[in-house]
Amino acid sequence: MAGLSGVPVIIMKEGSERESGKNAQHRNILAAKAVAEAVRTTLGPKGMDKMLIDGSGDATITNDGATILREMDIENPVAKMIVEVAKAQDDEIGDGTTTAVIIAGKLLEKAEALLEQDVHPTVIVQGYKQAAAKAQEVLKKMAIDVSGDQEMLLKIARTSIRGKGTEMALDRLSQISVDAARAVVGFEGKDIEENIKMVHIPGGRIEESSINYGIVLEKERTSPQMPKSIKNARIMLLEGTLELKKLGTDAKITITEAKNLSSFKEGEEKIIKEQVDAIIATGANVVFCEKGIGVFAQGYLANRGILAARRVKREDLKMLALATGAKLVGDVMQLRPEDLGSAALVEERRVGKEKQMIFVEGCEKARAISIILHGVSDQLLEEMERALDDSLNVVMDVIRSGKIVPGGGAPEILVAENLRQYASTLEGREQLAIRAFADAVEAIPFTLAENSGFDPVDSLAALRANQGEGKIYGLDIASGKPADMMAQGVVEPLKVKTQAIKSAAEAATMVLRVDDVIAAKREEMTPKPGQSPH
Ligand code: ADP
Repeated sequence: MAGLSGVPVIIMKEGSERESGKNAQHRNILAAKAVAEAVRTTLGPKGMDKMLIDGSGDATITNDGATILREMDIENPVAKMIVEVAKAQDDEIGDGTTTAVIIAGKLLEKAEALLEQDVHPTVIVQGYKQAAAKAQEVLKKMAIDVSGDQEMLLKIARTSIRGKGTEMALDRLSQISVDAARAVVGFEGKDIEENIKMVHIPGGRIEESSINYGIVLEKERTSPQMPKSIKNARIMLLEGTLELKKLGTDAKITITEAKNLSSFKEGEEKIIKEQVDAIIATGANVVFCEKGIGVFAQGYLANRGILAARRVKREDLKMLALATGAKLVGDVMQLRPEDLGSAALVEERRVGKEKQMIFVEGCEKARAISIILHGVSDQLLEEMERALDDSLNVVMDVIRSGKIVPGGGAPEILVAENLRQYASTLEGREQLAIRAFADAVEAIPFTLAENSGFDPVDSLAALRANQGEGKIYGLDIASGKPADMMAQGVVEPLKVKTQAIKSAAEAATMVLRVDDVIAAKREEMTPKPGQSPH
């Protein structure tokens, strides 16, 4: 670059790479398209699964867009932006991630064609924004209010779970999802994880999976002398320990005579005894302790008929508090009867071949619950948990908002049709971008048809022809023909669709606004022998 006096002005570090204008846009669009391509074949109930193998050789088999993208080690910064879209969609709604990424990829592919025709990126961005706003209007208008309709909740759960590799237990998992969502919907914290604990039990059939209106701990009681089962449990949650303080490495105690040693030990035992007595005085018969329970305390607790478990995870203690109504107590001597929680039953049971777990159940007004998942392999259990997590999110959304739309590509077809009509009322070049947006949204029914093994062009044409006069038809994945999605029970929350289109448009416009990529020279991590790293 030459300055006014003809002297080059250097504004970038030596070795930086720069790409600008169409080249930069082309490269960015290519990266975004590659991300969309990676998840395209998983869309819909007949979508395929992906097997992801991490650095240590562990495999995950999944159909969940957000998981696939999270596990892929994506380096390209633009591709990462698209992955962020999926993440945002997953965090906000918990479903519709694949849809959002496919639409974003298609919006950019269409934008590239417009750039080729010399439509300025600013015009495309403007058109896409208008189209996204119009799409929101159309979706809201087509939404149906289903507040209080329990059957509908089941249908929503089914649509979300279908195609997630766990379809063999669709009925059971949908029912669990609806029951669990209804149990905690009024209480939920920031994330479902705060109120619903998923417990994996390898072995057994998926259909045996169930809800426990309490908390299941992957723990055994601390000593076999303790009772295995306690009815009408009064539960104490202890944040501290029931163990004598371990002496630090620099502590030094000099005991010169044998009788001093035993009196030292007796002194310590006395403290523990006092603590256990204080617990018993409140009426507690179950103790869950975050830290250790020493041998002496174990014996004394067992003696007094108390069931105790040690090293209970902090998150589990918090959930136990929500489930049983107990307060977390730091100092045993401060424990009051009103700090205890209650459960109809606390019981250690064998699950699977050799594992023991403690079931805290029958908690009245439980604000946290457990879902017990049975499955033949860890991979299946993990996929079940992901499927349930997505469907819990959407069911909760519909319990709160009451608004749904039919699925199977129906909303996308309607949005596209409305956008094309809207485009024809405009004069500027934005109308080209709005038409492109309509085409991009139709990538959803197109891909659904493709993934279900039908000719996507034929299916799309048939779907377009079946719109109007109050008909909102989507793709029947069994025949590839248009069908009434409401009648088939294929329904989704309105928010999944509005958010997917919104996030896709935001991501695409963000990528399009970039026309200059300046990349600093990457520093070599490991210098070659005899070379300095710089
Ligand atoms: P996403 O991550 O975007 O939710 P999915 O793989 O879960 O992706 O696919 C969701 C799409 O599949 C939605 O468009 C939904 O309407 C559609 N779908 C789900 N079940 C059916 C069905 N039985 N028939 C037709 N389409 C369906």
